[in-house]
Amino acid sequence: MFVSASPEDPDVWYPDGNLVIIAESTHFRTYTGTINKFSDNFLQLAEVTHAVGTGYAAEGCKVVRVTDSAHDLRHVLRIIHEGFYYRQRTQGVVEFEYHASAARLSNKYNLVAIAHQVTTHLSELFPSSFDLWDKNESLRTDRTHMSPEDAIEAVKLFRKLAWNDMLPAALYLCAQLSPEILLGGHVRADGTLERLSRADRVLCIELKMTFIKESDAMFAQLCGKGRGQKCETNGLFGSEICRDTLAEQVRRHDRDNLHGDPLGTHLRKKIGSWEKSKLVCVECARELRVREKDLRRSLWRKLPKMMKLQV
Ligand SMILES: [Zn+2]
Repeated sequence: MFVSASPEDPDVWYPDGNLVIIAESTHFRTYTGTINKFSDNFLQLAEVTHAVGTGYAAEGCKVVRVTDSAHDLRHVLRIIHEGFYYRQRTQGVVEFEYHASAARLSNKYNLVAIAHQVTTHLSELFPSSFDLWDKNESLRTDRTHMSPEDAIEAVKLFRKLAWNDMLPAALYLCAQLSPEILLGGHVRADGTLERLSRADRVLCIELKMTFIKESDAMFAQLCGKGRGQKCETNGLFGSEICRDTLAEQVRRHDRDNLHGDPLGTHLRKKIGSWEKSKLVCVECARELRVREKDLRRSLWRKLPKMMKLQV
């Protein structure tokens, strides 16, 4: 990032602007008319400062000071001036950080159009439906979109803004974090340490234990139903390999089926490895994948109750 000794922000400084907004020690120069197009009460919500010694008032500028971070304000002002997709022209900005900043300020200053767009984007990372959760799986593991620790900031944000339909996904992802990160918190892009509330830290630890039990139960249900109805080895030539494979899995009760990510890829990887090793036939693998998805969908539906949420 460009570092300047000047308090004037290099990205948001329009020399003929008539409004200077000060966040922390950074000065942004913009236009009241532009701001008013996005929010009819931004200036009422910001604290008007005397700004002694800034000299901007002498140039005819209104000067306001806000309590937000310069990082967040820069993002929102760039969206206002350059459009929502300026990020695509900016290197190194993680998608979640960008949307979280915009969500905080768009809600605070009634920037309705920005708030609407940001919820659309955040709901791709933290979906409210199982189908979207499944479809967007790759987004959650791509660090250009988000890092695992961002789930902490997401939970704090969604709790504060009452965006309850995104909370199950965010809390689920928090429950995947290590105890050290879960308890110690995560420093967000503007330098603020985000820590879950005590109640949410306790909840996530409880969820970790719940998810281990659910993973175990899901594995038992996947294999316990036995081979598929269209099994190709249904006694043909004396072969019962699919039936035997699944019965053996239930009997062995491997410890690696006890894990805390029942909505993750564990079962799909198992099915894939059995199919590759010809321990189950193609038809059984197909049916197991259907079962596996049904089991995850069923767990997804139980999340709000497990998380004591009213979604
Ligand atoms: Zn089979």
